[in-house]
Amino acid sequence: MVISSTVKHPDEHSESIDCTFASRYVREAVPKFKLSESSIPKDAAYQIINDELMLDGKPRLNLASFVTTWMEPECDKLIMDSLNKNYVDMDEYPVTTELQNRCVNIIAHLFNAPIGKEETAVGVGTVGSSEAIMLAGLAFKRKWQTKRKSEGKPYDKPNIVTGANVQVCWEKFAKYFEVELKEVKLSEGYYVMDPLKAVEMVDENTICVAAILGSTLTGEFEDVKLLNELLTVKNKETGWDTPIHVDAASGGFVAPFLYPDLLWDFRLPLVKSINVSGHKYGLVYPGIGWVVWRNQDDLPDDLVFHINYLGSDQPTFTLNFSKGSSQIIAQYYQFIRLGFEGYKNVMENCLANTRILKEGIEKTGKFKIVSKDVGVPLVAFSLKDSSRHTVFEIADHLRKYGWIVPAYTMPADAQHIAVLRVVIREDFSRSLAERLVSDICKVVTLLETLPSTISSKSAHVAVIASETSEEVKKDITETQTEIASYWKKLATGKRVGTC
Ligand SMILES: *Cc1c(COP(=O)(O)O)cnc(C)c1O
Repeated sequence: MVISSTVKHPDEHSESIDCTFASRYVREAVPKFKLSESSIPKDAAYQIINDELMLDGKPRLNLASFVTTWMEPECDKLIMDSLNKNYVDMDEYPVTTELQNRCVNIIAHLFNAPIGKEETAVGVGTVGSSEAIMLAGLAFKRKWQTKRKSEGKPYDKPNIVTGANVQVCWEKFAKYFEVELKEVKLSEGYYVMDPLKAVEMVDENTICVAAILGSTLTGEFEDVKLLNELLTVKNKETGWDTPIHVDAASGGFVAPFLYPDLLWDFRLPLVKSINVSGHKYGLVYPGIGWVVWRNQDDLPDDLVFHINYLGSDQPTFTLNFSKGSSQIIAQYYQFIRLGFEGYKNVMENCLANTRILKEGIEKTGKFKIVSKDVGVPLVAFSLKDSSRHTVFEIADHLRKYGWIVPAYTMPADAQHIAVLRVVIREDFSRSLAERLVSDICKVVTLLETLPSTISSKSAHVAVIASETSEEVKKDITETQTEIASYWKKLATGKRVGTC
């Protein structure tokens, strides 16, 4: 968008700022890292920033993310109207506080929390699942420490058991709050936490086992029911009472609508808390997550701050103080607007489009599908033969058609597998799915005509590796391992920051 100004700046002489791009404010370089000496007109400021932002990807074509990129205009209006409301001013905005409490109750009921008729659910709105997980983790740590202290046992070496496929926020939790992260290794073909191995790793210092409903990498649901069974047996044998947390960031708003009979939530007795991202399949723009606890007892009271609110007690348990209200209002909008029926419809449509995409990709004959049919609606796929070209090159080429599809290697012990992942969101329609299939076909056909040295550094490495090797015929896994280690060297962080 280009806006042109009719306002004249006082020290404007020769040039007219009517010509937006020719005005000296847009022509001259703005200091990027220092506050500029003087002001510039608002339209020039708008234009400069708007133009730079044009080079960002288009959110709706960003197939890397689970996070919502489309909402109804009526909800956009509610969001715009509440942009200036600080959520923490509960005294001044009691209705917003009430809406968040309603959302907590709606979610707790959806996850089958055992809530009595006169009781209200225990939970809180957060900035996302990461904050929600910090809070849930803290509650487990405090509960475990209190118990150990009362038993006169050491309480300085808490640990948490997860799969190696956990999202980076669990590593953050472990580091920030000094809890050892014990990761269950993955293996080729099995990319989620194995409940049997997880329970074996549990010891007296384990504050909880965290299961993921919707693994970030493949969308697969971990077997929480089996975990609950095995852990119940272990608890009985040892006298411990190790609980379960479910990280349902992506799957919490999928499973209740698509797989109502799947047992993963508070119906399982050891599940004490669950987090979910409102901004993923909760269908709200970024900035909202939720954590709910099974009972009041599962949230130690000494972590809760009580502020006086309209003469009544308002308990709060969050990491930050001020934040916007609009995401909470938007979540409530989705709940009453869609209801169970609406969410079910949206999720069923996502599933249908997932199938179209998956079948289209399979038909090319070039790919192996890594994601499972039951799980979060996404398609993760790897190349059957990556001796000439890699998934990284495919991602590069798809970018030319406008698609943003991430390619990454799996975590430790399965890192020789490199995959592409397409997340199917509400606004990824059937026509887009068909279009993507046809563009993938074009890319695959194009790559076949190209020598394998071009475009991607990883392919380059693969080629050099096979050229310098005595055995020219390397098997696929070996080549992939080399590519993976090359990428690992390139990446500074341990994990890919997929969300
Ligand atoms: C996205 C995700 C997170 C982090 O959630 P945010 O809402 O982005 O903070 C944590 N765990 C899993 C499994 C996720 O998919």
